[in-house]
Formats: sequence, C-alpha cells, structure tokens
Amino acid sequence: MDYIESRSPQAPDDLVAEVPDSGAAEVTAAVERARVAGADWARRPAAERAAALAACADALAGDAGEVSALVVREVGKPVGEAAGEVARAVAILRYFAQATLLPEGDVYPAADGASLLHTRRRPHGVAGLITPWNFPVAIPLWKAAPALAFGNSVVLKPAEQSPAVAVRLAEIFADALPDGVFTLVTGGGAVGAALVERVDAVSFTGSVGVGSLVRRAAAERGIPAQCEMGGQNPSVVLPDADLDAAARAIAMAAMGYAGQKCTATSRVIVVGDADGFAERLVAAVEALGVGDPTDPGTAVGPVIEAAARDAVVTAADRAAGRGAKVLTGGRALDRAGWFVAPTVVTAVPEGDELLTEEVFGPICAVVPAASPEAAVEAANAVRYGLVAALFTRDLGHALTLAPRLDVGMAKVNAPTAGVDFHAPFGGAKESSYGPREQGRRRVTSTPVRPP
Ligand code: NAD
Repeated sequence: MDYIESRSPQAPDDLVAEVPDSGAAEVTAAVERARVAGADWARRPAAERAAALAACADALAGDAGEVSALVVREVGKPVGEAAGEVARAVAILRYFAQATLLPEGDVYPAADGASLLHTRRRPHGVAGLITPWNFPVAIPLWKAAPALAFGNSVVLKPAEQSPAVAVRLAEIFADALPDGVFTLVTGGGAVGAALVERVDAVSFTGSVGVGSLVRRAAAERGIPAQCEMGGQNPSVVLPDADLDAAARAIAMAAMGYAGQKCTATSRVIVVGDADGFAERLVAAVEALGVGDPTDPGTAVGPVIEAAARDAVVTAADRAAGRGAKVLTGGRALDRAGWFVAPTVVTAVPEGDELLTEEVFGPICAVVPAASPEAAVEAANAVRYGLVAALFTRDLGHALTLAPRLDVGMAKVNAPTAGVDFHAPFGGAKESSYGPREQGRRRVTSTPVRPP
C-alpha cells in the first residue's frame, strides 16, 4: 500500500498525517459498502436521519476546539477563521437535520379525478464527494449533510493536502451514523477519478481544470454532477462609495486566509481616482496581521505549499516585467513555512494573467475604469463568474449595476468573500456546473445574462 503525507504549511517539518493512497480496489470496496449501507439508510424514517445529523452536529460541537486546531495545523488557516468554519459546519448539520422534515413532493390533480398523482423525492444512491483543502470541514459537510439528509450514503475523497481533518471528522461521526453511510477514501487525483467512475452522483469542489474533467466523466457515465470551481472575482468601487470602508473590506477579501478562498477578490476595478484608492487599499493591506496562524491577531497565514507561494511571486514578477507596478508585497517572507507578503499591483498590462486567471494566493490588481458601465464590462470580461462586489452609496447604481454583474452572487458594500450557508451558493460561466449547493433553491439557478 502506498501512502501520502500531509505537512503543516507554517512548519513543513511537522508531518500532520500519513494516510493510504487508496487504489481502485479500495475505492470499489468503499462504494460497495456505502451502497449496502445506503439502501437501509434511505428506508429509515426522516426523523431518524434528522436525529443522526443532529447527533453529528453535537459531536462536532463537542470537539470544536480540537478540530479547529487541526485545521490551523494542517492547512494554515488563521485560528479565528478556523473556529468560524467549524461553527458554520455545526450549523449546516443542524440546518439539514431539520431539512429532512421538509415536504418531499407535490400532489397533482389526476386525469381520472380519483387517483392519487404525486411526485416524491428519491435519493440518488451513493454520492461521491470530492473536495479541496481550503475549507476542509465546511465543504465536505455542506455536501455530505444534504446528501445524508435525503437518504443517500456518501464516500468522501478529501484533498491530498488535508486528509487528517477528514479522518478526524469520520471518527467524530462514527457513533452518530450507521456504519458505511459516511466513508472516506484518501489519496490524490487518481482516487477522485476512480470514485467518479463508481458512484451514482458526484459533488465536486476545486479548480476549473479538474472540475471540467469530473463533469465530463460524470456525463460519460450519465450520472448527475455538481461542480463548484474557481473564481477571478472583481470588486467594483464607485467614486461615491465610503472609500475607507471599501478599502478595508477589499483588503480582507483579497488577503484574508492568504487569498485562498474561491470568493477572494482578485481585481479591484475603480471608477474615479484609482491611484488614490490603491493608496488606501495598500494602507489597509499593510495593517493586516501576517504570520503565525495560531495567533488570534493573524489575518494572513501561509499559503498551502511551496508551489502556491512561488505562483504569487511569479505572477507579480511577470506583471512587473511587463510594466506593472508592485505597490506592496511581491516577495516570499524570510521565515520557515510557505509565507508570501500580501501583494497589490497596479498598471497591469491588458491580457496579463493577473487580470484573467485565478492565482489563489494573497495578490490583487487595481484596475481603473472610465465609468460605472465600463467597470461592469471589465468585471464580466473573464471566463469565471463566481462572485462580485459593488461599493457605492448610490441606491440607483446598486440596483441597476449589481444585476448586470455576470456572477452567481453579487454583493453590495460587502466583501466578495463570505457566504451564508442557508442561501443557495454557486457561480456562473466556468465557475459552476450543475445545481446550487447549500441553502434551498426556490427559483431557477440558470444564471441570468445581462442584457
Ligand atoms: P483541485 O482542483 O486541485 O483539487 C480538488 C479535488 O479534486 C482534490 O480532492 C483532488 O485530489 C481532486 N482531483 C484532482 N484530480 C482529479 C481528477 N482527475 N478526478 C477527480 N478528482 C480529482 O483544487 P484544490 O487545489 O484542492 O482547491 C483550490 C481550488 O478550489 C481553487 O480553484 C478554488 O477556487 C476552488 N474552490 C472553489 C470553491 C467553490 O465553492 N466554488 C470553494 C473552495 C475552493
């Protein structure tokens, strides 16, 4: 049996876990076990599934301190955010425990006027969950909780950078859930691909590149797929905004957790005095605590691995080589671990990848726009469409411009990062495929294109 290692990004000598790199045979066995267990789980009364999910919530809440410390250690998330993620996961479990009791179908008038004609929600069977490392508690649970609530069993394949958290979650839930209903397979991309080949439905979160492989493989097999992927998220700042408040919100949205959120701000599109706003933004960024993620004052910890640190430095160097100005950051920090200084860049030449691709680190570009309309056009000029923010005090601008942002989630006077678990979550364009996640969807999720 081969093994994979997970190491702490702030202390790479710290070996957090060594877990099996599951082969095809182990994936087959896990899915078969889940299929057998799931058949019984689906027949249990909804109230029993609700009680089991509530017991999972209680168990996780009981171990919240230990789990958030493990999140800090394994993925370098600042401790305040790690605790917030665990608390949110507990809330998600409680929310879906209650959701088991929602109506499960509709009744239609039958043609003969006498028969009972109705629809009824049915589970898919075994749901394969393939997850990234950046929210190692919340993402697996916002996929697992609804799947379990409605009678599916799940097999989770966590990211190779965060298996220890997933193993701990499985241990915590072991007494609350029947055997085989929530199982794990660990390893890299090949294990994820093997899982997609065997399950009855797949829910993936990760990069656009891998997500497009997953959705194709699922389509080939004719199974439903839900893929939430990357972003290149804009924050649009209009001249009438509260500029200091906007700078503080954007600094945190771009750099918090070292920019490693799918909802992080990557482009700051400024109408009016872009250089003046860039100065405010730099001041707000330089005021953020950078360093040890166990320190409650830290907002920006390490990035996940050496390659992620190098990607930020390379992106800044490449843009600077083409005439861009690095206003702050642009270099690795001289300390153990994968730390890179929060980086703000201006005068980025058109077409540079900083304006079109996701770096997934603490770096953003400030871009001037001639008018609010031009700012919206620039905001939409990427293949991604996860989230956008608009900063303005003008209600007319808020109401007319926000719906023209071609994204799954548009926010006004709020950071791009941060979502509510009880609202539908997902993107437009290449950021998303399939139905929404998290909260209940009552209207069509088809993204509405701007006129
Ligand atoms: P990734 O795409 O590299 O990996 C995600 C998961 O896919 C991992 O478990 C990985 O092992 C697995 N995988 C790799 N190759 C596979 C294959 N061929 N078949 C099946 N599975 C495979 O992403 P990552 O580096 O773990 O996470 C960062 C990315 O995730 C960023 O792009 C970020 O924007 C995105 N993300 C999106 C959301 C969202 O909800 N939209 C949330 C968090 C992160």
